[in-house]
Amino acid sequence: MLIAERPTMTNLRSDLRLILLGPPGSGKGTQAQYICRVCDVGHVSTGDLLRRNTQKGTELGKTAAEIMKAGELVPDELIHEMLAALYERSGGEGVGFVLDGFPRAESQAQALEEYLTERGQSIHKVLLLELADDAIVGRLVHRRTCPKCGKSYHLKASPPKVEGRCDEDGTKLVWRPDDTEDVIRNRLATYHKQTEPVAEFYRKRGLLASIDAARPIDEVREQITVLLESLKS
Ligand code: AMP
Repeated sequence: MLIAERPTMTNLRSDLRLILLGPPGSGKGTQAQYICRVCDVGHVSTGDLLRRNTQKGTELGKTAAEIMKAGELVPDELIHEMLAALYERSGGEGVGFVLDGFPRAESQAQALEEYLTERGQSIHKVLLLELADDAIVGRLVHRRTCPKCGKSYHLKASPPKVEGRCDEDGTKLVWRPDDTEDVIRNRLATYHKQTEPVAEFYRKRGLLASIDAARPIDEVREQITVLLESLKS
């Protein structure tokens, strides 16, 4: 069943701070875009930020490109510097955001907690999109993404209206260099080893909510909507 797009939610704090966790291909980017629309908060995707640096040819982008192509993690210091600069630029304390792709290691979760605590802030909820490895490879090898707006398509399940072009802005879609089968397997191994402990970190703090990401996009969105409703004041 198709669920109509919802208007912006009311009674949600404007500085709502959420984290989306989950393996590559679990739909974090797609769902983050939805949450940001209905909650009117900023979308922070560390993967998109790194890819933008690579396109611009910055030092960070050059260093990150090789690591990303191998399906490994970019060093914490580089990620933390990039995010701290963004946070300061975006006005800092009053801003709400959805973090997509960060934290990806327990060390990053700890650093984030310290950073926010120093500013009298905290994370309000962590949404874990759960999906089995078998489903992931099939999703990612058929994924094409828009380098401009970040929207992703599945060539079979949700193709763009015009072949090879983004529905939103007409930009030529790209096949990410790390969406090949061998790199996907490395990204999954990295996820199990380094990112899964992050879920435990937040579970212990009572912040984790699990979402069944194997369901169709609209149903995942509906599970998320129910969770967001529970965060209303
Ligand atoms: P994503 O677009 O979230 O799938 O991220 C693509 C790649 O960017 C990952 O496989 C990592 O190489 C790198 N990356 C993204 N976020 C992080 C992070 N928080 N820490 C380290 N590396 C990251």
